[in-house]
Amino acid sequence: MGAKIISGKEIAKEIREELKEEVSRLKEGHGLTPGLVTILVGENPASVSYVTAKQKTAHELGFYSVQDNQPEDISEDALLELIDKYNNDEKIHGILVQLPLPRGVNEERVLNAISPDKDVDGFHPVNVGRMVIGERCFLPCTPHGILEMLIRSGVETSGAEVVVVGRSNIVGKPIANLMLQKREGGNSTVTICHTGTKDLTYHTKRADILIVAAGRPKVITADMVKEGVVVIDVGVNRIGKTPEGKAILCGDVDFDAIKEKASYITPVPGGVGPMTITMLMKNTVQAAKQFAGLD
Ligand code: NAP
Repeated sequence: MGAKIISGKEIAKEIREELKEEVSRLKEGHGLTPGLVTILVGENPASVSYVTAKQKTAHELGFYSVQDNQPEDISEDALLELIDKYNNDEKIHGILVQLPLPRGVNEERVLNAISPDKDVDGFHPVNVGRMVIGERCFLPCTPHGILEMLIRSGVETSGAEVVVVGRSNIVGKPIANLMLQKREGGNSTVTICHTGTKDLTYHTKRADILIVAAGRPKVITADMVKEGVVVIDVGVNRIGKTPEGKAILCGDVDFDAIKEKASYITPVPGGVGPMTITMLMKNTVQAAKQFAGLD
């Protein structure tokens, strides 16, 4: 029996339609247009393409959107001043600084300068702290997207054994935390694995839901999972180029083999990726509503 494919592309489309309608209502009913600025430092090709995709989506949803390009050699002080300007700009409700930043700029200091009320990436320690104690906050976009995919696909998470491979601050730790929370899409028993884990297969084989964010192509093979597992593959690995020069992508799991054993699985591309940008948009709408006292 083949697994049901969880299409992040389709779910993201559904959420974007909902957001588009919400943005129209906010504009017509309250004169409120959600505003997003994306700050890009330098010209790293991957960063340029991520920022372009974010701006395109913001436009499509009817946001007020600003792309602010800064030179590679911008000083940390100048970047902090820029963030301060957007913190005080009433038309801007969400600020996104595209990572990575050039060497010599302290990423932590820059991210912490963003007002927690405009931190639509959910990386500010205030939002991270609120998430951990289960308070309302901006959830980090990739874990938020995973949660939505599980909920909208009808996957039962309550009581499930969830195994997360990876402990980064942007994926592994937050998704593990969210799955643990006593609420819809959570209430799971969570194990987090990393390179210090002694027997990875012992853990992955126990998983009812396996979330893999290791950044290692096909590190999870079919013999490492049990029948009926739900697999969320966060990994995006560039493993070559087509003759036309387009990147060939693969995830962290051996999709072709595991889809024969799993009950649900996300593809790469078209799985978690499209959800991440969509949740950024959802957070920006939330930020705008909070700013206007509508939420
Ligand atoms: P990261 O910061 O490099 O963290 C990778 C984590 O995986 C680390 O905790 C590492 O353990 C663990 N790990 C690596 N190899 C392992 C192995 N063989 N066994 C067990 N654990 C292992 O990566 P990240 O930022 O979380 O991203 C992970 C992947 O997701 C990347 O491919 C990235 O491109 C992708 N990603 C996709 C999206 C999206 O929107 N689709 C968003 C974010 C990230 P240690 O801590 O011990 O080193």
